[in-house]
Amino acid sequence: MNRVSETADFIIIGGGIAGASAGYELCKKGRVVILEKESQLAYHTTGRSSAIFQLGYNKGDVLLHILVKSSEDFLRHPPEGFAAHPLLTPRCLIHVATVDTQDTLDDLYRKLTDIDVKVDYIDGAEALRLLPVLASEYQGRALMEHGTADIDVNGLHEGYLRAIKASGGDIVTGAEVTGLTRKDNQWQVTTSAGCYQAPVVINAAGAWVDQIAALAKISPIEIRPMRRTVIMVTPPEEICLDDWPLVMDTAHKYYFKPDRGKILMTPGDEKYVAPCDVQPEELDIAYGAYYLERATNLKVDKIDRSWAGLRNKVTDGHPVVGFDPEQAGFFWLAGQGGFGIKTSPAMGRIVASLIEGAGLPQDMIDLGLTEEQISVRRIKKS
Ligand SMILES: Cc1cc2nc3c(=O)[nH]c(=O)nc-3n(C[C@H](O)[C@H](O)[C@H](O)COP(=O)(O)OP(=O)(O)OC[C@H]3O[C@@H](n4cnc5c(N)ncnc54)[C@H](O)[C@@H]3O)c2cc1C
Repeated sequence: MNRVSETADFIIIGGGIAGASAGYELCKKGRVVILEKESQLAYHTTGRSSAIFQLGYNKGDVLLHILVKSSEDFLRHPPEGFAAHPLLTPRCLIHVATVDTQDTLDDLYRKLTDIDVKVDYIDGAEALRLLPVLASEYQGRALMEHGTADIDVNGLHEGYLRAIKASGGDIVTGAEVTGLTRKDNQWQVTTSAGCYQAPVVINAAGAWVDQIAALAKISPIEIRPMRRTVIMVTPPEEICLDDWPLVMDTAHKYYFKPDRGKILMTPGDEKYVAPCDVQPEELDIAYGAYYLERATNLKVDKIDRSWAGLRNKVTDGHPVVGFDPEQAGFFWLAGQGGFGIKTSPAMGRIVASLIEGAGLPQDMIDLGLTEEQISVRRIKKS
């Protein structure tokens, strides 16, 4: 093993979307090294998402709305040369409910209009026009949420990484961090691919953030990795999916949408598991098929592919971004649950601004975001 330390201004642990977006902003201020334990980047949660951009995420959660809103301009109009294709492709979203759960639509309508997300009621006939296979039990009123899109996750991730490399930064795969020691105002980082040092370490290790903290003898934020399953189903030949909306059931957590000629469906499962290369369970796959059959008049004979990913959360479901109070130079970027892709431009900017000591970006303060809401302290004092 190479024992000579490579130096940087910022070492980022984890090469998913969080680490990449932080690196993208930090490489404008100094030399960045990203350390990723897998041989392939985006192998874990980042490569397993549903790729949805939604302004009213999580029933209009106010804080998450600020983060999505603050990311919107970047995603709709990325800098020149950032990506070869648009990062967002518009995708109509309809929230549907059965006759018994129609009140959930009214609740959602209130929450979304409260945060100025544009949303309209549509009648059953319009819902059926948008989704010709909609089951009769769902053909009452529905809600159409505007501004939703599919995200080119790979294009976004690649764009961040390309800029880091162009700035002289390094992205090292197969580099599992196994040791973290603070000496002479520098973090000495031991990995399976060599040693690195920098005054600031950014912990963007997804489900593994508490294990990274333990290496540095820092107390955990009690991250909870929650398994979520996705299935892919090929529709009958006569069905053209291209213009299908994204469909979300307001009472349950399941949703489905077209994805490269197939139907991507998640039953909305959420099961706590230890950090791992998570795999789907048969029961959740079966629930995915069951809900798809329930919401449509399709028959699911075969599931083409299934996978699971970890949505990593802390107690209040909001991200944890900031320096740790216990050790100098240790910065957390964690807890992005099911919103880490669509909020990554804002999160990257927050990281760079806080590390620089400039507080939060002004546009996010203007929208009502405070440091306390995303701080490490709020978690550690509870
Ligand atoms: C099924 C599903 C659907 C989702 N849908 C959406 C969606 O539609 N829209 C959206 O915005 N978000 C969505 N998300 C959430 C989004 O995918 C995550 O919030 C985001 O990918 C988290 O990125 P991350 O970089 O924090 O984690 P990861 O991508 O998991 O990256 C962390 C990295 O750290 C590395 N690492 C860990 N330990 C070490 C170590 N010791 N040394 C070096 N490296 C280490 C890991 O190998 C990993 O690559 C979804 C998630 C799931 C599971």
